[in-house]
Amino acid sequence: MTIYRAPIQDTLFVLNDVLGFQRYSNLPGFSDATPDVLEAILAEGAKLAENVMHPLNRVGDMEGCVRHDDGSVTTPKGFKDAYDQYREGGWMGLAAPAEFGGQGLPYAVHTAVSEYMISANMALMMYPGLTQGAIAAIVTHGTDEQKATWLPRLIGGAWTGTMNLTEPHCGTDLGLLRTKAAPNGDGTYRISGQKIFISAGEHDMSDNIVHLVLARAEGAPEGVKGISLFIVPKFKLDASGNPGERNTLSCGSIEEKMGIHGNSTCVMNYDEAEGTLLGELNGGLKAMFTMMNEARLGVGLQGLSVSEIAYQNAVSYARDRLQGRSLSGAKAPDKKADPIIVHPDIRRSLMTMKAFNEAGRALALWTAIKSDVAHRSGDDKDRQAADDYTGLMTPVVKGVLTDKGFDHAVMAQQVFGGHGYIEEHGMSQFVRDARIAMIYEGANGIQALDLVGRKLAQNGGRAVQAFFKEVGEFCEENRADEKMAPFTKSLKKGLNDLQAATMWLVQNAMAKPDNAGAASTDYMHLFGLVALGYMWAQMAKSAQAKLADGANGGSPFYDTKLVTARFFMERVMPETATRLARISSGADTLMALPAEAF
Ligand SMILES: Cc1cc2nc3c(=O)[nH]c(=O)nc-3n(C[C@H](O)[C@H](O)[C@H](O)COP(=O)(O)OP(=O)(O)OC[C@H]3O[C@@H](n4cnc5c(N)ncnc54)[C@H](O)[C@@H]3O)c2cc1C
Repeated sequence: MTIYRAPIQDTLFVLNDVLGFQRYSNLPGFSDATPDVLEAILAEGAKLAENVMHPLNRVGDMEGCVRHDDGSVTTPKGFKDAYDQYREGGWMGLAAPAEFGGQGLPYAVHTAVSEYMISANMALMMYPGLTQGAIAAIVTHGTDEQKATWLPRLIGGAWTGTMNLTEPHCGTDLGLLRTKAAPNGDGTYRISGQKIFISAGEHDMSDNIVHLVLARAEGAPEGVKGISLFIVPKFKLDASGNPGERNTLSCGSIEEKMGIHGNSTCVMNYDEAEGTLLGELNGGLKAMFTMMNEARLGVGLQGLSVSEIAYQNAVSYARDRLQGRSLSGAKAPDKKADPIIVHPDIRRSLMTMKAFNEAGRALALWTAIKSDVAHRSGDDKDRQAADDYTGLMTPVVKGVLTDKGFDHAVMAQQVFGGHGYIEEHGMSQFVRDARIAMIYEGANGIQALDLVGRKLAQNGGRAVQAFFKEVGEFCEENRADEKMAPFTKSLKKGLNDLQAATMWLVQNAMAKPDNAGAASTDYMHLFGLVALGYMWAQMAKSAQAKLADGANGGSPFYDTKLVTARFFMERVMPETATRLARISSGADTLMALPAEAF
């Protein structure tokens, strides 16, 4: 049995002390999230995560989902009950618009609570997670009638949503998709085709499932310019808007997969199923990106969440497991051996995970606040700057947090030695579950290309220049502060490497696009290191301010922050130099060999 405790104090430190959450109280929803309310929400969310969702994590892994001959799917024992508690607690609508039954609280609060619940049970939280994407797409692109029809029950959690993009021959390259939409002449369409790998495609937890399906309308152009998004419900609605006649769609099978067994990954067959257009005809890509951006931040959070729970279990094991003696003399002389937490190499793993988790949490919450500003601010300039930031940081959050999430699940497993490899301790599940987050919602290689190929150059590089300026100014403003020197020096060095890499791309990628492709993954991680380093420098500054205020109260919380910040700067940040060296070596050796030489 694994353990899990929601890191509430850490979340509050980041939101209140580091990111100045209360500064945004002029934005809709923020004034409702007073410090007391915020703390109460986190505590309630933590209870649900720890007491209800976490005990089901292993059950979900062992039992998986079962498809019956009639195409129905049963989720693991306890999942429906837990989902009912999530729904009844109003968690689905926490940040959703109040006019459709949501609570209108900041997305940042939703993000903070979701981290806990995903740590506790990633597979279970995918059902509401996909629904959030569907809600976002309908809020942004739906007609008034579609919003009134679908949103209240999606936001209330009575119905869940899905994203149907992938087809057997069409994954990353959505221009290849073949699912067809034929107009019925009454505003509805007949959708036909097969989708694969559809998360939460069929299950027993909600009264209806609202599928958002990408399809090609009759006569539409080839490629991505000819795809549209459709709302295709499992049950068509009757005259009073309740689930009525069964639509002609079904789950053909569920995938046997490496992890997230508690989530049903379905092959979905659409056989002239009735649907309505969401957004503009042939504007499916735009509508889909609304879902995808939300979902990408959510998947980044999955990386962080699994890293956190894996870390907590590794710490607990390292404190108990007795093997060998400390290099600096016995630490538990009354026992036959010392706990393995005394060994520097075990410390290396634990500190690496800890330093990443705390900065990753800050980065996820900072990005969520920016997303709130982008959607809620009344000031055009603020909205634009926040939107620039969110666009730039989405591939970084998705790609870096999930790559590292998996690395850390493996690192935590390694702390258990052979006991991590057997199923009993639950570490294998973390490794298996974390792996998918690097693949779906655009594989991480595609995130890196999105960053390098699209986001850097957008609006003449406005977003990236603003980020460089902000981090540079932070270093400059704190240059004279001796206590900040260990943090700002290292951060400035990382920023210099990132700027040099960006300049190298400007000079070398236009004439030779393979240079951009060859640099992309290293560039994304270099970007992530600087973003995480910036979070640590700010956390160090806040911790120092708290200590100066005498806020420590005998607790080692803020001192621990400072040590962890130093660890990050000394042992993680130097990787920026390696990343820069790789980037500026160009594409030559990658591309030199003919395909048959491999
Ligand atoms: C468990 C699970 C759940 C999923 N849930 C959903 C869901 O709910 N809805 C949905 O629609 N889909 C879902 N997917 C599908 C998922 O999003 C795709 O698997 C993913 O987008 C990659 O597509 P693909 O598997 O066809 O790989 P491919 O597109 O064939 O890519 C293979 C590899 O090539 C790389 N690659 C491809 N093109 C390029 C390029 N131009 N440049 C550089 N590298 C490239 C990719 O990064 C990848 O590493 C799910 C998949 C799984 C396994």
